[in-house]
Amino acid sequence: MTNKDTADDGLRLKRAQFNAAMALYEGRRRYKVFGKLVAAANVSLQAFLVYRASAHSIGAARQLLVFAAAYLAADFVNGLVHMHTDCMDDYESLGGPLIANFHLHHKRPRYQDHPLPFVYFNESGSKVWLVPCLAAAALLSYAPGVSPALVWGLAYFGVLSSVAEVSHYLAHNSTSRWVLLLGRARLLLDKRLHARHHLEDNVSYTFLNALTDPLADLVAKRFYPGYKRGTDLHYGNYELPPSGRVNEA
Ligand SMILES: [Zn+2]
Ligand SMILES: [Zn+2]
Repeated sequence: MTNKDTADDGLRLKRAQFNAAMALYEGRRRYKVFGKLVAAANVSLQAFLVYRASAHSIGAARQLLVFAAAYLAADFVNGLVHMHTDCMDDYESLGGPLIANFHLHHKRPRYQDHPLPFVYFNESGSKVWLVPCLAAAALLSYAPGVSPALVWGLAYFGVLSSVAEVSHYLAHNSTSRWVLLLGRARLLLDKRLHARHHLEDNVSYTFLNALTDPLADLVAKRFYPGYKRGTDLHYGNYELPPSGRVNEA
C-alpha cells in the first residue's frame, strides 16, 4: 500500500464522516434548537453586560479608548476561533454536526438574505465559546474593586463579537455603497480583504474589520495547516440543499 493509497483512504473516511455528520445536523432538530439557545444566551448576556457597564461613567476619552481596544480584541479573538474551527475535523464528536455545518461556508460563501437583526441573533448561535466567556464577564462585573473600564470593555467585546458576524454577512451579501465605504474605512470587513480567505489558503481569518489580520496570519502560519488541502476536501461528496443556509465565517 503506497502513501497515496493511505491518503485516499483517509480522505474517503473523512468524507463519509462529514456526510454522516451533516445527515445528523439536517435530520435532528436538536442542533437547530441548540443554536437558538446559544444565540439567546449570548444576546441576553451581552444586554446584561451593557446594563452592568452603564452604571459606570468613565468619561468620553476613556470610553473611546476602551471601545477601540475592544474592537481590535473582538476582531482578533473571533478570528482565532474561526482559524481553529476551520481546522477541526472530528466529525464523529458530540459537536461534529456543528463543525461540519460550519465548514460549509467555504463551499457556498453567500448567505441567504435576511434582515440584519436576524443575522445578528442567528449567527450568535454559532458562538458556543462566547457563552462561558460572557458568563464569566458578568460574574466579574460583581467583583469588588473591578475596573469600570474593564466592564465596559467586556460589554463592548461581547456585542462586537456578534457584530463581526453581521460584518462578515455584509461582506458577502451586500453591494450597498455604505457597506463598501465602511469596509474601505476598515470599520467593517472589506470584501476584497475577506476574499483572500476564500481564494487563498490559511490567511485572513479575522472578520470584524480585519485590522488584526497580519497578526492572525502569523499565528496561522506558525500553528495551523490551512484548509484548502484539509477540511475543504471533506465536503467534496456533500450535496448542498437547494434552499441554502445562514452560515458562519
Ligand atoms: Zn473560514
Ligand atoms: Zn466568508
